[in-house]
Amino acid sequence: MDCIFCKLANGEIPTNMVYEDERIAAFKDVNPVAPVHILVVPKKHYSSLEDVDFENMDVIIDIHKAIRKIAEQEGFSKNGYRIINNCGKDGGQEVPHIHYHVLAGKQLTKLVTD
Ligand code: AMP
Ligand code: ZN
Repeated sequence: MDCIFCKLANGEIPTNMVYEDERIAAFKDVNPVAPVHILVVPKKHYSSLEDVDFENMDVIIDIHKAIRKIAEQEGFSKNGYRIINNCGKDGGQEVPHIHYHVLAGKQLTKLVTD
């Protein structure tokens, strides 16, 4: 499958890896919208949250554990951060490999709906 995030997460395309473990990879967003903008993805391909069967939901916990570790490692756990998952067309998802945006490094504005 020709999936850019599969290739980045599995090292097929070199990237600025922020965090990696057996199942999860995290790298910098190429078009950051905050001082810290990291994408956290599973190494296994799921096209979106809607593609994760209930029996495979552990991957969502894995992602959140990785986010906690990254926040500690990168030094923004105390000041806080925002996690965003765009799911599907109406959610504004552009890359069809599930990913969680982690934004930090400044006081973010109140969440807007569009
Ligand atoms: P979404 O709109 O939620 O699908 O977000 C896709 C994100 O992936 C955007 O913020 C892009 O800037 C980012 N992106 C696309 N291609 C790459 C890439 N090759 N490396 C890092 N980030 C990327
Ligand atoms: Zn993929």
